Amino acid sequence: MPGHVFGRTTKGVLPVAARGEGCYIIDSSGKRYLDGSGGAAVSCLGHSDAGLRAALHAQLDALAFAHTGFFTSEPAESLADALAAHAPEGIERVYLVSGGSEAVEAAIKLARQYFLEIGQPQRHRVIARRQSYHGNTLGALAAGGNAWRRAQFAPLLVETSHIAPCYEYRDRQEDETQEAYGQRAADELEAEIRRLGPETVMAFIAEPVVGATAGAVPAVPGYLKRIRQICDRHGVLLILDEVMCGMGRTGHLFACEEDGVAPDMITIAKGLGAGYQPVGALLASGRIYGAIAAGSGFFQHGHTYMGHAMAAAAAGAVLDAILGRGLLARVREQGAKLDAALRAEFGQHPHVGDIRGRGLFRGIELVEDRAGKTPFDPARKLHAQIKKLAFEAGLICYPMGGTIDGQRGDHILLAPPFIIEDAQIDELVGKLSGAIRGAL
Ligand code: PLP
Repeated sequence: MPGHVFGRTTKGVLPVAARGEGCYIIDSSGKRYLDGSGGAAVSCLGHSDAGLRAALHAQLDALAFAHTGFFTSEPAESLADALAAHAPEGIERVYLVSGGSEAVEAAIKLARQYFLEIGQPQRHRVIARRQSYHGNTLGALAAGGNAWRRAQFAPLLVETSHIAPCYEYRDRQEDETQEAYGQRAADELEAEIRRLGPETVMAFIAEPVVGATAGAVPAVPGYLKRIRQICDRHGVLLILDEVMCGMGRTGHLFACEEDGVAPDMITIAKGLGAGYQPVGALLASGRIYGAIAAGSGFFQHGHTYMGHAMAAAAAGAVLDAILGRGLLARVREQGAKLDAALRAEFGQHPHVGDIRGRGLFRGIELVEDRAGKTPFDPARKLHAQIKKLAFEAGLICYPMGGTIDGQRGDHILLAPPFIIEDAQIDELVGKLSGAIRGAL
């Protein structure tokens, strides 16, 4: 097939995805691929879900799009109601966009406008963490701490402070409890706020479970609670980026529920539309919305496709499916099985340093030497080899490599559909094991 699509890479020819069937994607030659990472933690309901197809057909018959400068729509309103009803305490308003980066951009701009509206125009700084990814648009890229993604565009990025991530495998000292480590890591935020001048800091942004840059790294218990206290102490907004880990991926609708923390804003995307439509959302507290409503009455932002009726209908149907089909409990159950299968296969593996994650959001980290946690030479591109061999064997997984602070190993992220069966968990782990064996 001649290709004029300008894709991610100019090298090589990709297979043509022709059909989807449950946990599998089938290419035009008929080859089946087990979607072990839901693409990039997107396809939480699997492919060709009958309920989603019906919901989208119905919405298409009624209305595809009406510009939000003129109208709201029934699917947008009912999605916002449902999300707000299930969101952490204080979160009341839902701003619908087309994806994760857009949601993060909107969060940063809303934070800025909030402080203008309440008479604190000096607050403009964002603090984030080194091991993070918040999107590829310029504002979101500036917030993120992925050195490789930032490097080329550095002159275009607004200055952002990056503190240490909460990365127990690498950073907790042997004689330190999880709690003490979590407090030490969180206290870096306080130190950075003080260094910058609290009156200039607008927001702290973090992923509760770090996805693409680290391979499903959850914060240790207590870390996010302390972060919340520090933000409150200095009047700084807490933005939790759940673009990857939200929408049930960890076994809770919002990952931060498990941490017992309610942020000021949450960004979601990926699993929100489950791949059936491109959609994301910024969820904001009533306090933030109230400040805009009592002030200018206008959030100075907006994209043509925000609140798109088809996208909202898809997201509404995904949320109904997650809640109505008992998928949160299923994620916890199948997630525990996936974790057990990974530990059985790789628990004693000389090159698997860490197995981690929550729910159906799991990662393994590969190291040259398990005792010293030494990463493989990044030039070896082990993760790319594993991806290639797994794909040849009919498994889609999400590997990433490189180092952050010169210390991170190659890792593989797994985020299969919530409907994954036991036999498919075995297939996933078996194929992954074969690919790792082949690459080493
Ligand atoms: N935030 C997080 C945590 C992500 O993982 C991603 C994408 O991987 C984004 C934001 C950006 O989302 P999108 O690719 O939909 O723009």
